[in-house]
Order: sequence, then structure tokens, then C-alpha cells
Amino acid sequence: MSTQAARVAVIGAGWAGLAAAVELCAAGRQVLLLDMAHQPGGRARSLAQGDLLLDNGQHILIGAYRDTLALMRRVGASPEHLLHRSPLTLRYPDGSGLVLPPGPALLSFARGVLGWRTMPWRDRVALLLQASRWGLQGFRCDPSLTVQALCRGLPASVMQALIEPLCVAALNTPADQASAQVLLTVLKDALFGPRGSADLLLPTAPLQALLPDPALAWLQQRGTEWRPGARVQQLHRLAEGWQVRTDEGQDDVQGVVLACSANEAGRLLAPHAPDWAETAQALRYEPIVTVWLRNPAHRAWPEPMLALQADAQAPAQFGFDLGALGGPANTLALVISGAAPWVAQGLPTTVAAVRRQLAQAFAGRSEFDWDDAQVELVAVRAEKRATFACTPALQRPSADPLPGLRVAGDHVAGPYPATLEGAVRSGLAAARALITS
Ligand SMILES: Cc1cc2nc3c(=O)[nH]c(=O)nc-3n(C[C@H](O)[C@H](O)[C@H](O)COP(=O)(O)OP(=O)(O)OC[C@H]3O[C@@H](n4cnc5c(N)ncnc54)[C@H](O)[C@@H]3O)c2cc1C
Repeated sequence: MSTQAARVAVIGAGWAGLAAAVELCAAGRQVLLLDMAHQPGGRARSLAQGDLLLDNGQHILIGAYRDTLALMRRVGASPEHLLHRSPLTLRYPDGSGLVLPPGPALLSFARGVLGWRTMPWRDRVALLLQASRWGLQGFRCDPSLTVQALCRGLPASVMQALIEPLCVAALNTPADQASAQVLLTVLKDALFGPRGSADLLLPTAPLQALLPDPALAWLQQRGTEWRPGARVQQLHRLAEGWQVRTDEGQDDVQGVVLACSANEAGRLLAPHAPDWAETAQALRYEPIVTVWLRNPAHRAWPEPMLALQADAQAPAQFGFDLGALGGPANTLALVISGAAPWVAQGLPTTVAAVRRQLAQAFAGRSEFDWDDAQVELVAVRAEKRATFACTPALQRPSADPLPGLRVAGDHVAGPYPATLEGAVRSGLAAARALITS
């Protein structure tokens, strides 16, 4: 089969590919959207688990995800209905932790830090001084610095209660290996952005309903051809445009947005752009493990998201009360980012360690009503290549390796770590570049 009708092929229907397809379609391009999976969404999709629909992993958005929120609105998915918004709160089960009051982002941060009663006042002042210095330096630093090196002057208490959890949540890379510059970029967008930029936005519906399903429906209503289960095997260069080959046939198109994983993009482009392919395939990855537990005696948590003290014996950094977020009742999602050491120990060991961690964190706290013997394991998932390891001065593949072809995805060179917002921004940029060329 060969069709001339499709003008631009978008390969990969993750959030980057969907963003690109929507932008191309809105500009009047005819879009062919292919994905080797049978549903859109990529790493941010929902999957059936028995009679439950669980996300591929719990996702957190923040108010600074400007382009993601705009894209949701564009395809008819209301962030106001699908996301639970609250000022940034990193509360621990014992009630300690940073809670920002509502208000303009920077002022709210300053007031939140000053009001952080469980943190010694000297440490609060040290944090405010350090944050002011970062601001005065325009949130720029030596690109070779790790987060740990950047924060050398900060007290251990601030590192443990704030910087390390924020770093692993945003970059999925431990502070001693993570890029300080990328973390500073995220902090700048959150703290110096418009009001609400630092807000936490927690999904109150499966990820599928946030973007993948509404975007696909929007695209199909406008004539996009959707081919699920179609793995692109080869790309062949034509005198004008590209030929996209799958096991079922081939399509000649004028342009391509390559929005698949970095590894697959490297494989497809190795014959055409070997240096680019080498850079894409050299990326290293960090896993994320999610453990879902059901506590029959569960009582609503004081916050839908709690921070947890993580260390070599305690894997999870965050817990989510899914019932409070419109999900299955009495069910908790525990997230382990930067999970390489735990994946190496195996999932049964990891689940047992999470259960011990919660039993300790909730011990003597009647508000959590936790009896480990009654708690059931619902599911555990390890995404081994959850995100690229966001290390200092990392060389990421460019968006424009060849004429008529743009690459999109959270791995493409840019200021953001591997996030939904990074994926969406790169998808929009790839589409716009093709449209203007
Ligand atoms: C467990 C977990 C937790 C996360 N938590 C957060 C979070 O809290 N906040 C946040 O912002 N981000 C989070 N992320 C990261 C976020 O999910 C990703 O950054 C984002 O989904 C990447 O989108 P993408 O479109 O770039 O890539 P992908 O989602 O990987 O999409 C690529 C698509 O290409 C398809 N494909 C690959 N090869 C081919 C081929 N040859 N032919 C056709 N199709 C192909 C794949 O099937 C896939 O659908 C998390 C990720 C994971 C895994």
C-alpha cells in the first residue's frame, strides 16, 4: 500500500507526538499518526490492572506547565476539572514540611519558608539567602555542577526536606548526580513565573483522559489518520520528502516528526545521520517504580500527596491518596524515583521495603490507621527507562538532524528535564519548524 494523501507523518503518539499532530492539523496539514502501541499516550498513559485503570506511573504537573495546560484546553480537556490544584506542599506524615500559601509565586515562596516552623530559623534564613543568590545570578550556574555541589552551603536539613525530594521529583536523578542548571531552570519557571506557577497539579482522572484520548478524538474529527500498532521499521529519504515503512506497507510524506523514544529514533536515523543517532543512543536512563497498596481501614490523608523520608532502607519519596483524587478508594500510590538501586534488588524486596517504610512513618499516628497485616498489594510497576538521567552538561540530540524531518520528545535538547511539559514543548516546536519550512 502506498498513499500520497498523508503530508506529514508523526511517528509516536506520546505527549510530544500528540502536541505536534495537533499543531500540524491546526495549521491545515494532513497528518498520519502512527504508534507501535495500541493506544496513544506513550509513557504517560493508563493501563488496565484487573478491574482498575492505573496510570503507567503517578504523574505530577505544576502550574508552570504552560504549554501542556494550553494544549489540554485546545483539545477540550479542562485542566480545572481534571487536575487538583493546590499551592506547593511538601508535608511529611508527622506534619512537618514546607507549605506555600497562595499568592504570587515568589512572595508565596518567601512567606512559606519564613513560616516553616519545623525548620530551625537559621536554616530557613540560609535557604532564603541561597534562593536570592540564585535569583540574582539569573538562575544560571556552571553547567558542570551537580545539584549537590550547587547547594554546598545549604544545611543538611534543607537538603533532606526540600532540595533532594524536589530534585528527584523534577529530574528523576539523585542530587549528587543531577544537573544543577536544569534544576535552576525549573525553579526559575516555578518561582519567577506568573501567579500559580509553583502550584501542584495532581490528576483527578486517569492520565489517558488528561490528553491522549481527547487529543486523539480532536485529531480524528479533523481528518487525522491514526494507525495504532504500527511500528515504523525504516525511514527512506526521497527526492522530496520521506518514505515511512512499517510491516504493513509504506507511505510517502513531505515531512516527518519523529516523536518516538530516543533509542528508536537513533535506530531509524542511523543510516541517515550517524552522529545524531550516536548521541541519541548514548543517553542513559533512570527507572521509576510505582507501588499501589490498598488499606481497607484507610482514612483520607491530610493532603492527597505526602512527602516521605527516603534513604537506603526506605525507597519511596512520595505517596498519593488516590481516593482523595477521584481514583480507587482506599488505594495509595507510592513513587520511587531514581530507582536504579531498588530495581537491582528486585520488586519483591522493594515492595517489602515500602511497606516497612510506611509502617514506620505512620507508627503511633492514628490518623493513618495503618496495620501492615491488613494492607494488600494492588500492583507494582517498574518503568526501567522512565526518563533520561539528567546529569550535568549532558549532550542531548538536536531537534533538526535532517531536512524535512524534526525530532520531538522529552529527550530532545532543551532547558527542561524529561517531563510532560518538555515533551509537549518539543512537539509544538517540531511542528512549527516544519510548518514554516
Ligand atoms: C513512571 C513515570 C513517572 C513520571 N512522572 C512524571 C511526572 O510526575 N511529571 C512529568 O512531567 N513527567 C513525568 N514522567 C515523564 C513523562 O511521562 C515523559 O516525559 C513523557 O511522557 C514523554 O513523552 P514523549 O512523547 O516524549 O515520549 P513517549 O511517551 O515515550 O512516546 C513515544 C511514543 O513512540 C512510540 N514509538 C516508539 N518507537 C516507535 C516506532 N518505531 N514506531 C512507532 N511508534 C513508536 C511509543 O510506543 C510511544 O508511544 C514520568 C514518566 C514515567 C515513566
